[in-house]
Amino acid sequence: MPIRKGGVSVDLQQQPISALKGVGPRVAEKLAARGLATLQDLWLQLPRQYEDRTAITPIRLLQPGVAAQVEGRVEAVERGFRYRPMLRVAVGDDSHGTLVLRFFHFRAAQVAQFQVGARVRCYGTPRPGQHGLEIVHPSYRMIDEAGDDALGTSLDPVYPAIEGLGPVSLRRLIGQALDRLPDEAALELLPRELRDGLPSLREALLTVHRPPQDADVASLLAGRHPAQRRLAIEELLAHHLSLRRQRIAQQAHAAPVLRKTALADKLRKRLPFALTGAQQRVFEQIRADLGKPHPMLRLVQGDVGSGKTVVAALAAMCAVEAGQQAALMAPTELLAEQHLHNLRGWLEPLGVRVAWLAGKVTGKARAKVLEDVASGQAQVVVGTHALMQEGVAFHDLALAIVDEQHRFGVHQRLALRDKGSGGSGNGDAIVPHQLVMTATPIPRTLAMAAYADLDVSAIDELPPGRTPVQTVALSAERRPELVERIRKACAEGRQAYWVCTLIDDSDEVVAQAAQSTYEDLCKRLPEVRIGLVHGRMKAAEKQATMRAFKDGEIGLLVATTVIEVGVDVPNASLMIIENAERLGLAQLHQLRGRVGRGSAASSCVLLYQAPLSQMARQRLETMRETNDGFVIAEKDLELRGPGELLGTRQTGLAQFRVADLSRDADLLPQVHEMGERLLRESPELAERIVARWVGGAVRFAAA
Ligand code: ADP
Ligand code: MG
Repeated sequence: MPIRKGGVSVDLQQQPISALKGVGPRVAEKLAARGLATLQDLWLQLPRQYEDRTAITPIRLLQPGVAAQVEGRVEAVERGFRYRPMLRVAVGDDSHGTLVLRFFHFRAAQVAQFQVGARVRCYGTPRPGQHGLEIVHPSYRMIDEAGDDALGTSLDPVYPAIEGLGPVSLRRLIGQALDRLPDEAALELLPRELRDGLPSLREALLTVHRPPQDADVASLLAGRHPAQRRLAIEELLAHHLSLRRQRIAQQAHAAPVLRKTALADKLRKRLPFALTGAQQRVFEQIRADLGKPHPMLRLVQGDVGSGKTVVAALAAMCAVEAGQQAALMAPTELLAEQHLHNLRGWLEPLGVRVAWLAGKVTGKARAKVLEDVASGQAQVVVGTHALMQEGVAFHDLALAIVDEQHRFGVHQRLALRDKGSGGSGNGDAIVPHQLVMTATPIPRTLAMAAYADLDVSAIDELPPGRTPVQTVALSAERRPELVERIRKACAEGRQAYWVCTLIDDSDEVVAQAAQSTYEDLCKRLPEVRIGLVHGRMKAAEKQATMRAFKDGEIGLLVATTVIEVGVDVPNASLMIIENAERLGLAQLHQLRGRVGRGSAASSCVLLYQAPLSQMARQRLETMRETNDGFVIAEKDLELRGPGELLGTRQTGLAQFRVADLSRDADLLPQVHEMGERLLRESPELAERIVARWVGGAVRFAAA
């Protein structure tokens, strides 16, 4: 969406890099391959390091691991060819120290430069070598006797390497782009009163690219310099605004008004349990949303076992009572099947017709389901991704429910929505309401960034009678003790899971591991009925085994992580996770959530292979310390960073150029506030900020 109102700044920032000197089509292509196309892209290509060339360090004072600039004379040169070509140059200075420069790639012209006695100035990080300190592939230059030996006056930026473009050329290009930075009046978009003492954009860019000699290098390197914070704020703000804009556009659509709740009330009365306070509160929020003529967009976060499914079922009843349809989509077939089973159990007694659609439903059966979905005969449709496929046409979809949102991307979420009666997503289409559920709580700050286009509700209370799961970490050598523990639990009528994981998570290898664990356990526990589930089995087989486990016919279920999400067997009270050190916190928490669902005291055993890495140790400790999904999510963020936590491609987030959510998360509340204020007071500025950083309307959605 070209924005002209911006005048000079917008035009200049969008000027192609090819307008710069020395940028022919080949260079432009290389830059474009890295997403660098405009002057602005170069301004925002920030250094990842700085080199301090403002001083020279005597060789004798060099410290291993500390980058420094050195100057001296070549004392000896050695070329070797033993295993691969190598060039070693010994350099000495007045401090009577010697430093070795080592090259593995070099040209003849370079060798010729290093004459004994020649003066060389170089920069790099010394490491201990065979003969004292050495620098591998230093940047260097020869100093001729005539002079030209002035030291730098500012810190030299080091940019992320771009293939086929030398560091010097890249630096020169970025320098040229910076020379064309517009003046502050043309460039600045943030009103001064919102800047809160932070530098202007122009000042911030210049500081980051050309830090003065007295700049606080440590904070620059940590990314926490006010200049960098300033850039991060504007970028986060732009993303926030673009999500808000998307939401506003969404709210401009019409949605079916679902006001009647007699059917939901009926379901509620027939449930074998009373809703928790949190479930009631969240359902009330949903009910209020559904009664409005605009589409609901609500995320329900709730820890594993908090009872999200029944809330979804209640919401679906509002659509059914209005004579329309609801769809529930889950990421795995196993989970979708379980939803189907629950929903049929709850809804069929009320006379509600529930249909099932997954990839495995084929041929005549599929044709029949599609027909029922298209005619409205099917009132609630449960399934996997198959629901979104072409050829699936709903008669009148009023509510799209997506479970385990983190497994789906933004546009998958939207794709299901587009199955609404309007279909094409154009202006006057009627858009279904959307309910998104996730059991992976994300820290509040991240939720703010990732879901600014959604309303968020939390089911922050577990159904009564659950006791927290006791978690222990055991070295794999203690496996025999565990076998006894399973024997005992099963003898007492309880059930257990044994989860096999491997670092190579190709289905086949994991399936084999599960198979051999299964065989081994069968030998050791002849009196226990043992089942096996893995991703390579036929759906029917898996389902039969799951069913037998659920019905208590199987005492021990050996499984791969296919059981991770959503599997619900309240009588199971022992969870054993093999190679637990290889799993992330979110996954461990999900797996552990399979137990502690009934009233029996439950435990989780994390079997690990020693030795443990620092990270793995911290993860296992966190698991032992807490059962709280939100605490675990915060810890996960700290250990892994937001990209992995959210799944970068999945959220459409994380295409940040400057901001880093794990580092800058503390800025989000401020960003949020600024965003609301800008939207209220200067929507035009908001548009321009989005245009500058996010570009067109779709950049973030097309991840
Ligand atoms: P999750 O939020 O992890 O998807 P589920 O919806 O699978 O959780 O619910 C977990 C279990 O708790 C199910 O067996 C469900 O029937 C049961 N449950 C849900 N709500 C309540 C409640 N208020 N009281 C007792 N049990 C409940
Ligand atoms: Mg669930």
